[in-house]
Amino acid sequence: MARYKDAVCRLCRREAVKLYLKGDRCFSEKCAFMRKGYIPGEHGQSRQKISEYGMQLREKQRARRIYGVLENQFRRYFKEADRRKGVTGEILLQILESRLDNMVYRMGFARSRAEARQLIRHGHFEVNGRKVDIPSYQTRPGDIVSVRENRRSRNLFREIADWGSAQGTVEWLEVDRENMSGKVTRFPTREELDVPITEHLIVEFYSR
Ligand code: SF4
Repeated sequence: MARYKDAVCRLCRREAVKLYLKGDRCFSEKCAFMRKGYIPGEHGQSRQKISEYGMQLREKQRARRIYGVLENQFRRYFKEADRRKGVTGEILLQILESRLDNMVYRMGFARSRAEARQLIRHGHFEVNGRKVDIPSYQTRPGDIVSVRENRRSRNLFREIADWGSAQGTVEWLEVDRENMSGKVTRFPTREELDVPITEHLIVEFYSR
Protein backbone atom coordinates (compact mmCIF):
# COMPACT_ATOMS: atom_id res chain seq x y z
CA MET A 1 0.00 0.00 0.00
CA ALA A 2 1.32 3.39 -0.96
CA ARG A 3 1.91 6.21 1.51
CA TYR A 4 -1.08 8.60 1.73
CA LYS A 5 -0.27 11.74 -0.26
CA ASP A 6 -3.59 13.64 -0.31
CA ALA A 7 -4.48 16.53 2.04
CA VAL A 8 -4.14 15.08 5.56
CA CYS A 9 -6.94 17.27 6.97
CA ARG A 10 -9.36 15.12 4.97
CA LEU A 11 -8.38 12.22 7.23
CA CYS A 12 -9.60 14.08 10.32
CA ARG A 13 -12.85 14.88 8.58
CA ARG A 14 -13.20 11.27 7.40
CA GLU A 15 -12.63 9.91 10.91
CA ALA A 16 -14.85 12.62 12.45
CA VAL A 17 -12.21 13.48 15.04
CA LYS A 18 -9.17 15.75 15.26
CA LEU A 19 -6.11 13.58 14.61
CA TYR A 20 -3.56 16.39 15.18
CA LEU A 21 -1.53 15.63 12.07
CA LYS A 22 -0.33 19.17 11.29
CA GLY A 23 1.28 20.52 14.43
CA ASP A 24 0.57 24.20 15.15
CA ARG A 25 -2.19 24.45 12.58
CA CYS A 26 -4.28 21.93 14.53
CA PHE A 27 -4.51 24.37 17.43
CA SER A 28 -5.38 27.38 15.25
CA GLU A 29 -8.52 28.70 13.59
CA LYS A 30 -7.22 27.30 10.30
CA CYS A 31 -7.99 23.72 11.39
CA ALA A 32 -10.14 22.25 8.59
CA PHE A 33 -12.03 20.02 11.00
CA MET A 34 -13.22 23.06 12.95
CA ARG A 35 -14.31 24.81 9.77
CA LYS A 36 -15.79 21.79 7.93
CA GLY A 37 -16.44 19.07 10.47
CA TYR A 38 -18.30 16.75 8.10
CA ILE A 39 -17.12 13.79 6.03
CA PRO A 40 -15.52 14.95 2.74
CA GLY A 41 -17.14 14.02 -0.56
CA GLU A 42 -20.52 14.31 -2.25
CA HIS A 43 -22.49 12.48 0.47
CA GLY A 44 -20.47 13.77 3.37
CA GLN A 45 -23.24 15.83 4.89
CA SER A 46 -25.99 13.19 4.60
CA ARG A 47 -26.72 10.79 7.48
CA GLN A 48 -25.38 7.32 6.80
CA LYS A 49 -26.18 4.16 8.73
CA ILE A 50 -23.01 2.34 9.66
CA SER A 51 -22.80 -1.45 10.09
CA GLU A 52 -20.93 -3.23 12.89
CA TYR A 53 -18.19 -4.13 10.44
CA GLY A 54 -18.08 -0.49 9.31
CA MET A 55 -17.55 0.68 12.89
CA GLN A 56 -14.73 -1.82 13.45
CA LEU A 57 -13.09 -0.82 10.17
CA ARG A 58 -13.34 2.90 10.98
CA GLU A 59 -11.76 2.35 14.39
CA LYS A 60 -8.86 0.46 12.86
CA GLN A 61 -8.37 3.15 10.20
CA ARG A 62 -8.51 5.89 12.81
CA ALA A 63 -5.78 4.23 14.89
CA ARG A 64 -3.62 3.71 11.79
CA ARG A 65 -3.99 7.34 10.82
CA ILE A 66 -3.30 8.74 14.27
CA TYR A 67 0.00 6.83 14.48
CA GLY A 68 0.80 7.01 10.72
CA VAL A 69 1.15 3.26 10.24
CA LEU A 70 0.54 1.37 6.99
CA GLU A 71 -1.87 -1.57 6.84
CA ASN A 72 0.64 -4.44 6.77
CA GLN A 73 2.65 -3.05 9.62
CA PHE A 74 -0.47 -2.41 11.64
CA ARG A 75 -1.55 -6.02 11.12
CA ARG A 76 1.88 -7.17 12.31
CA TYR A 77 1.50 -5.05 15.44
CA PHE A 78 -1.87 -6.66 16.08
CA LYS A 79 -0.43 -10.16 15.70
CA GLU A 80 2.34 -9.28 18.14
CA ALA A 81 -0.18 -7.84 20.64
CA ASP A 82 -2.35 -10.94 20.28
CA ARG A 83 0.65 -13.19 20.94
CA ARG A 84 1.59 -11.44 24.21
CA LYS A 85 -0.10 -12.09 27.56
CA GLY A 86 -2.57 -9.42 28.67
CA VAL A 87 -5.34 -7.30 27.19
CA THR A 88 -4.72 -7.34 23.42
CA GLY A 89 -6.18 -3.89 22.72
CA GLU A 90 -4.11 -2.23 25.44
CA ILE A 91 -0.92 -4.01 24.35
CA LEU A 92 -1.57 -2.92 20.76
CA LEU A 93 -1.73 0.70 21.92
CA GLN A 94 1.47 0.25 23.93
CA ILE A 95 3.27 -1.10 20.86
CA LEU A 96 2.07 1.90 18.84
CA GLU A 97 3.11 4.27 21.63
CA SER A 98 6.58 2.68 21.76
CA ARG A 99 7.40 3.69 18.20
CA LEU A 100 10.27 6.17 18.10
CA ASP A 101 8.28 8.71 16.04
CA ASN A 102 5.55 8.70 18.68
CA MET A 103 8.09 9.09 21.50
CA VAL A 104 9.74 12.05 19.78
CA TYR A 105 6.30 13.65 19.42
CA ARG A 106 5.26 12.84 22.99
CA MET A 107 8.53 14.29 24.31
CA GLY A 108 7.79 17.53 22.45
CA PHE A 109 10.74 17.30 20.01
CA ALA A 110 8.34 17.43 17.05
CA ARG A 111 4.98 19.14 16.60
CA SER A 112 3.26 16.14 15.04
CA ARG A 113 4.04 12.46 14.51
CA ALA A 114 4.49 13.19 10.79
CA GLU A 115 7.11 15.83 11.58
CA ALA A 116 8.77 13.40 13.99
CA ARG A 117 9.02 10.78 11.23
CA GLN A 118 10.64 13.26 8.88
CA LEU A 119 13.16 14.47 11.47
CA ILE A 120 14.06 10.90 12.43
CA ARG A 121 14.57 9.89 8.79
CA HIS A 122 16.90 12.88 8.39
CA GLY A 123 19.09 11.48 11.16
CA HIS A 124 18.48 14.10 13.87
CA PHE A 125 17.88 11.63 16.72
CA GLU A 126 19.72 9.03 18.71
CA VAL A 127 18.60 6.36 21.17
CA ASN A 128 20.98 5.51 24.03
CA GLY A 129 23.72 7.48 22.27
CA ARG A 130 23.39 5.72 18.89
CA LYS A 131 21.89 7.33 15.80
CA VAL A 132 18.54 5.82 14.81
CA ASP A 133 16.81 6.88 11.59
CA ILE A 134 13.96 4.38 11.60
CA PRO A 135 10.64 5.94 12.74
CA SER A 136 9.12 2.55 13.62
CA TYR A 137 12.03 1.67 15.96
CA GLN A 138 10.52 0.22 19.14
CA THR A 139 11.69 1.97 22.30
CA ARG A 140 11.65 0.28 25.73
CA PRO A 141 11.50 1.49 29.32
CA GLY A 142 14.92 2.87 30.24
CA ASP A 143 15.73 4.12 26.72
CA ILE A 144 17.06 7.67 26.33
CA VAL A 145 15.91 9.50 23.20
CA SER A 146 17.87 12.65 22.29
CA VAL A 147 18.32 15.20 19.55
CA ARG A 148 21.89 14.60 18.33
CA GLU A 149 24.30 17.05 19.88
CA ASN A 150 25.46 18.71 16.66
CA ARG A 151 21.80 19.42 15.69
CA ARG A 152 20.58 21.00 18.93
CA SER A 153 21.56 24.57 18.08
CA ARG A 154 19.48 24.62 14.90
CA ASN A 155 16.66 27.18 14.83
CA LEU A 156 14.14 24.49 14.00
CA PHE A 157 14.82 22.65 17.25
CA ARG A 158 14.77 25.90 19.23
CA GLU A 159 11.31 26.65 17.83
CA ILE A 160 10.11 23.11 18.51
CA ALA A 161 11.54 23.23 22.04
CA ASP A 162 9.39 26.29 22.81
CA TRP A 163 6.35 24.50 21.44
CA GLY A 164 7.18 21.37 23.45
CA SER A 165 7.53 23.34 26.71
CA ALA A 166 4.09 24.81 26.19
CA GLN A 167 2.57 21.33 25.68
CA GLY A 168 3.88 19.84 28.94
CA THR A 169 5.07 16.26 29.46
CA VAL A 170 3.17 13.00 29.86
CA GLU A 171 3.51 10.95 33.05
CA TRP A 172 5.47 8.01 31.64
CA LEU A 173 8.33 10.11 30.20
CA GLU A 174 11.03 12.26 31.81
CA VAL A 175 12.09 15.12 29.57
CA ASP A 176 15.20 17.28 29.92
CA ARG A 177 14.38 20.19 27.62
CA GLU A 178 17.69 21.94 28.27
CA ASN A 179 19.61 18.98 26.77
CA MET A 180 16.83 18.00 24.33
CA SER A 181 16.68 14.52 25.69
CA GLY A 182 14.02 12.29 27.24
CA LYS A 183 13.78 8.99 29.08
CA VAL A 184 11.06 6.36 28.63
CA THR A 185 10.35 5.46 32.26
CA ARG A 186 7.59 2.91 31.60
CA PHE A 187 4.75 1.97 29.24
CA PRO A 188 1.59 4.08 29.62
CA THR A 189 -1.62 2.61 31.03
CA ARG A 190 -4.79 2.84 28.94
CA GLU A 191 -6.23 5.52 31.24
CA GLU A 192 -3.21 7.74 30.60
CA LEU A 193 -3.58 7.66 26.82
CA ASP A 194 -5.57 10.49 25.26
CA VAL A 195 -6.09 8.81 21.88
CA PRO A 196 -9.75 8.67 20.74
CA ILE A 197 -9.71 4.95 19.93
CA THR A 198 -12.05 2.16 21.05
CA GLU A 199 -9.46 -0.59 20.81
CA HIS A 200 -11.81 -3.52 21.41
CA LEU A 201 -13.41 -2.76 18.02
CA ILE A 202 -9.98 -3.19 16.40
CA VAL A 203 -9.56 -6.54 18.17
CA GLU A 204 -12.99 -7.57 16.88
CA PHE A 205 -12.06 -6.41 13.37
CA TYR A 206 -9.01 -8.68 13.21
CA SER A 207 -10.78 -11.55 15.01
CA ARG A 208 -13.57 -11.93 12.46
FE1 SF4 B 1 -6.74 17.57 11.58
FE2 SF4 B 1 -4.81 19.22 12.28
FE3 SF4 B 1 -5.91 19.38 9.84
FE4 SF4 B 1 -7.28 20.14 12.03
S1 SF4 B 1 -5.42 21.09 11.19
S2 SF4 B 1 -8.06 18.92 10.35
S3 SF4 B 1 -6.57 18.61 13.54
S4 SF4 B 1 -4.69 17.69 10.66
